[in-house]
Amino acid sequence: MRVVVQKFGGTSVASPEARKMVLKHVIRTKEEGYFPVVVVSAIGRKGDPYATDTLISLLDEVEGEVPAREKDLIMSCGEIISAVLMAALLNGKGYRAKAFTGGQAGIITDDNFGNAMIKEVKIDSLLNAIKQDYIPVIAGFQGMTEGGDITTLGRGGSDTTAVALGAALGAEYVDIFTDVEGIMTADPRIVKRARILDTVTYREVAEMAYNGAKVIHPRAVEIAMQRNIPLRVRSTFCDSPGTLITCTPEWIPERLITGITHISNIAQVIIKVTPGDKDSEIKVFRILAEAGISIDLINVFPELKMFTISEELVEKTIEELEKIGITPKVRRGLTKVTVVGAGMRGVPGVMARIVEALRRENIEILQTADSHTTISCLVRSEDAERAMIVLHEEFEL
Ligand code: ADP
Ligand code: MG
Repeated sequence: MRVVVQKFGGTSVASPEARKMVLKHVIRTKEEGYFPVVVVSAIGRKGDPYATDTLISLLDEVEGEVPAREKDLIMSCGEIISAVLMAALLNGKGYRAKAFTGGQAGIITDDNFGNAMIKEVKIDSLLNAIKQDYIPVIAGFQGMTEGGDITTLGRGGSDTTAVALGAALGAEYVDIFTDVEGIMTADPRIVKRARILDTVTYREVAEMAYNGAKVIHPRAVEIAMQRNIPLRVRSTFCDSPGTLITCTPEWIPERLITGITHISNIAQVIIKVTPGDKDSEIKVFRILAEAGISIDLINVFPELKMFTISEELVEKTIEELEKIGITPKVRRGLTKVTVVGAGMRGVPGVMARIVEALRRENIEILQTADSHTTISCLVRSEDAERAMIVLHEEFEL
């Protein structure tokens, strides 16, 4: 049975015209003799009536905290609406189709509401539907706990739904349909000259995704990599082949830099301690860990500890540190710009080029971090766009 998973994002199902394009892709795949399994996101983006952000904002008028379980329940509704509509549209065109919630499709998760992990996919109900010649249309971004509570998989989680189903069903490939023509050398909304990448490795894309390229969810790439499922990112609105993501080669030697990514809304925390005061050093990182505050760009010097956090965690972080008598210096409004390239491993001079390019533009680097395949620079958010454009030019992407 030649199964193909086709995932359509929010803008791909946002209007009757867009949904016609979706039907075209699904029907063509069906007519080619494949068994398409369709995964859909909620209709539209922030502000649209059935978009996830709109649904969750209904709870804004509530005084006090809404339990995470209930939040997930309301957030899961958008995808269900979308799945029902797409299945009905396929039926209207004379193709048997059936809508499934994530739970009905057998996606079992842990109970970490808001960011649940898929533990298992029970494929029986989907397999039955496929065997009866139904096209299953599954609500993305959601699953169900063993106990039957609906969970959501975190932002961009529909990509994960698609790849997890592809893995469980032994799909030939998974297509992620979206509003751009593929994975590009940078976010085209920021870098107008960004270019489509024809082929990238799982590793390159995973690095890009973890460093802020929102085009695909990093967990989706991870599952595809583990299970060796070919993944394509392509546009709903045209027929171009898009970007193929595959396993080999692990890195493409001739490509020094793959792309530029960014993560905004970052704050930098600087803590001064008396050199030799090991006690407070340990306490700082312990207390943040216990408060569940995730930190990045960590630099530890004898008299100085520096790290970054997401801006929304500033108050909580200050509160926690004050408990151990520390008043940190906090700089807000920052963006982490990252140059990603599996080929930069061991190649000298990349950092020099980054520093020179940013200096030429008078962009101050507030902190840096690097790995084998990435170099990140922390800059002021007002400089971030220019930094990305300059680096994109510097490496002739
Ligand atoms: P969907 O709703 O289809 O999942 P997303 O908004 O999640 O769509 O992802 C597509 C968007 O990702 C594009 O519109 C683009 O602005 C953004 N994006 C960020 N970085 C990249 C990149 N490197 N290549 C392509 N698109 C990117
Ligand atoms: Mg997405």
